[in-house]
Amino acid sequence: MKSDRRHFLKAAGVATIGVAAGATAAEANLLDSAKELLLGPKGAAPYPEAKKNARWAMVVDTRKLTAESMEKMIHACNHAHNIPLHPLRKKGDKYNKDEIKWIWEEEFENAFPGQMNEHLPPKVTQNEVLVLCNQCENPACVRVCPTKATFQRDDGIVIMDFHRCIGCRFCMAACPYGSRSFNFKDPRIASLEINPEFPTRMKGVVEKCNFCAEQLDKGLQPHCVEACENGELVFGDMNDPESEIRKVLRNNYTIRRKPEVGTQPQVYYIV
Ligand code: SF4
Ligand code: SF4
Ligand code: SF4
Repeated sequence: MKSDRRHFLKAAGVATIGVAAGATAAEANLLDSAKELLLGPKGAAPYPEAKKNARWAMVVDTRKLTAESMEKMIHACNHAHNIPLHPLRKKGDKYNKDEIKWIWEEEFENAFPGQMNEHLPPKVTQNEVLVLCNQCENPACVRVCPTKATFQRDDGIVIMDFHRCIGCRFCMAACPYGSRSFNFKDPRIASLEINPEFPTRMKGVVEKCNFCAEQLDKGLQPHCVEACENGELVFGDMNDPESEIRKVLRNNYTIRRKPEVGTQPQVYYIV
């Protein structure tokens, strides 16, 4: 039986290569569905035992952010994760339904609406900050997902199995941070040069930052952190009291986005 399945997979693989050479976007979607049936959902891959005791978090040092450094970090994420570049928001617009964003620049006032006051220094309030999924300890998006396409790993990462997403967008309504995007258009058409090591998605699927789980599984830092040149982002294990992130948190005053909603964000900001 097992041997039959192996032969079937091998034959299917040959057929897949043949079709993929001239595949349209619709054919590529069908191929992905067929691969899922044969091989199981991609996003459910296990991760090393050694990482199970970690609890990942990030610190953003807003004092060090510059327009140039933020662009580098955003580009690193976009490129690694095949994020489609549909037309972006125009300056001043708060929302563009086609925009797909995993990490993006946001005005301080929009990122921290409850923490504004008229006497804050302009250098804090007038600069944009980097925002991403907060990888919440208590994620509202996981609770509402009817198919478990969004789930939380043992190390706290809130991640998606794109193949299980039915596009209901309950998670988008539940997330208080606007950290999720919906593919109204085929994302493969507008991607940068495709990175074959990361799955592409389909029209009708939600996506968001995954804290670079694929990098962590290889013992590497997230792509946006690797793109830093001046320590703008610090990433690490909150369960290790000697980790760099725990030291940074001990030595700096930090805030989190919308603490009042009870999601317990795991992205901290030095302001
Ligand atoms: S920021 Fe939003 S999408 Fe990310 S874990 Fe929290 S509730 Fe979910
Ligand atoms: S859009 Fe997808 S990930 Fe979001 S709640 Fe629906 S099935 Fe879950
Ligand atoms: S942690 Fe990874 S997925 Fe999340 S914003 Fe940074 S590069 Fe993108």
